[in-house]
Amino acid sequence: MTDFVIPAPAPVALPVAGSAARFPVGRVFCIGRNYPWQADEARPAGMPAWFMKPTTAIVPAQGVLPYPPGTEDFCHEIELVVAIARGGRDIDPAQVEAQHIWGYAAGLDLTRRDLQQQAKRAGGPWEPAKAFDHSAPCTPLMPAEACGHPRSGAIWLAVNGVDRQRADVADLLWAVPDLVAMLSRSVALQPGDLVFTGTPVGVGPLQRGDRIAAGIDGIAEFGMTVA
Ligand code: MN
Repeated sequence: MTDFVIPAPAPVALPVAGSAARFPVGRVFCIGRNYPWQADEARPAGMPAWFMKPTTAIVPAQGVLPYPPGTEDFCHEIELVVAIARGGRDIDPAQVEAQHIWGYAAGLDLTRRDLQQQAKRAGGPWEPAKAFDHSAPCTPLMPAEACGHPRSGAIWLAVNGVDRQRADVADLLWAVPDLVAMLSRSVALQPGDLVFTGTPVGVGPLQRGDRIAAGIDGIAEFGMTVA
């Protein structure tokens, strides 16, 4: 029995690659611009912009991707996703990989770009552009003990067989240990948190019927079709 007045929301979890085990998802953090989109683009001096998506935005990166309402410019962003095993605040970057990261996945930070541009112009919040249903498809998690901590490797996304995004994880302006450490100076990280680490150049619109193929070498590959 329970004293909840309505049924409690079901926990959100991601499968673990090659296992029946699951990773319980706590919160979803997303890092803004963190790859060079222009030649010789310098690393920003400090923490890139970050925002959040609701846990319920996480869906398996497979099958059908619903085209969301309220947009004429539904865009893909392929990203390396970091899963936090052990939380903390003011984490030492040198301790991030060994002490705090459970594993990695490939995910999409799907964006209603027209609503994001409206929000930027109006100085409004990004949630209508970023935090909609099904906006964060994610592959099964690869344990770091299986894949190591990726310092390089292709990150790519193709639509209908044509490359849209292709870069290397080594191109991250702020590498994962620095990003996680910086985020932990802004919020106390918790076990179960996911961090989407930013997307390479080449973001673009999706149309109904488009076939997405994407992946990160050594981590995951996936395909989805836009409904
Ligand atoms: Mn993004």
